Amino acid sequence: MATKSKFQAIKGTRDIQPPETALWNRVEQTAHEVFATFGYGEIRMPVFEPTELFARAVGGETDIVSKEMYSFEDRDETSISLRPEATASVCRAYLEHGMQSLPQPVKLYYMGPMFRRERPQKGRYRQFYQIGAEVLGGTDAPAIDAEVIEMLMTYFDKVGLHGATLYINSIGHNAENCRRGYVEQLKTELAKIKDNLGPDSQRRIDTNPLRVLDSKLESEQPYIEKLPRIADHLCDECKAHYAAVKRQLELRGLLYQENWRLVRGLDYYMRTTFEITAPGLGSQNAVCGGGRYDGLVELLGGPPTKGIGFAIGEDRLILSLQERAKLEGPDSPLATRHSPLLYIAWMGERAYAAAIRAAKDLRNAGFSVELPPLEQKFGKALGQADKLGAKYALILGDNEVAEGLWTLKTLLTGEQQKFPEPELLEFLCQQKKVSS
Ligand code: AMP
Repeated sequence: MATKSKFQAIKGTRDIQPPETALWNRVEQTAHEVFATFGYGEIRMPVFEPTELFARAVGGETDIVSKEMYSFEDRDETSISLRPEATASVCRAYLEHGMQSLPQPVKLYYMGPMFRRERPQKGRYRQFYQIGAEVLGGTDAPAIDAEVIEMLMTYFDKVGLHGATLYINSIGHNAENCRRGYVEQLKTELAKIKDNLGPDSQRRIDTNPLRVLDSKLESEQPYIEKLPRIADHLCDECKAHYAAVKRQLELRGLLYQENWRLVRGLDYYMRTTFEITAPGLGSQNAVCGGGRYDGLVELLGGPPTKGIGFAIGEDRLILSLQERAKLEGPDSPLATRHSPLLYIAWMGERAYAAAIRAAKDLRNAGFSVELPPLEQKFGKALGQADKLGAKYALILGDNEVAEGLWTLKTLLTGEQQKFPEPELLEFLCQQKKVSS
């Protein structure tokens, strides 16, 4: 029975506990491994930064900055915010450490908590975790966009996410003969259907018309579907870039769907945008968002610098993997357990000394071992081993110590085998090989 404590985690935050943490570790470990094979290095950044960094990089007009940031005044009266995302920090770090002088592009990845004061629901939290990567500097060759996406899809595959769908789009660039011209036309069309839109979209007609295309509001859908599409307004260079990205994806054998409504509301975003959805998540089914942002580093005071990146919602990735594990049952490769392999049931002082030695050797060999701190009757010890879900009990009593033969009991079958001490370790190592 849970006892209610006087304190609870703040709304929208939660504890991630064992055995679930094992899955988190696996997801993170796989990211380290896969991203390294693509030449990315990990960067760890502070979780708080000057508020101004996010106001600039994410945009003061966005919901994230205007409504959702956790900001506070530090003792020296500077305004500080918990990071709502990490691309701004990566760009800041790129400039701060003079990474422009390294061979370009610089490929970085990060993982960690982000903070947004959103309305909590399944797959949406106020403290959530992202795994992201950024490619800064060098060229904007379409092969870079495609390789970033290839890395993502490889990662999702390796981590065991089934049924991920990749959506792509191009939002052109911020020029009159390209996106700016399109946005003007979009505004005009939106003004005509204003009365049929909800209050959020009505407000966005002036502040951020592209974001109206993001709307999930059922009643708005028939109107939005009839709006002009950006693909028909891209300049020749952006059109060619988009066609080349698609060709590059095909070269890599990656399936994609085009979604003309996939936009980013900020001026420095350009050309490629992408999103990946995963099954089992309900309405919050976007597990990753990304895009090209060639103007961002310059906006932060640096030289013109190409940039592209993505952020995976780790909480959602885990939720989707858990849904899959539920469907597959206890034999799923994603099922997580938190049980010792072996429980040492010892009785008597001499046996205890042997038990301590055995525990040390077995743990050194990588086995998970539970060594009870107090002597227990064998019946009780075996019951405890069972409760903990151990696979084996190692029985060490006076007889075993005197004979130099240790008894290993397989708890599921009740089968017992006797081994001299060194052979026990060998036997367990053999078992490990067979089962892996
Ligand atoms: P964004 O930084 O808004 O482009 O989001 C990138 C990804 O982070 C999304 O596709 C989600 O998977 C995840 N994400 C964003 N906001 C939240 C949140 N409040 N809770 C959980 N995951 C989130």
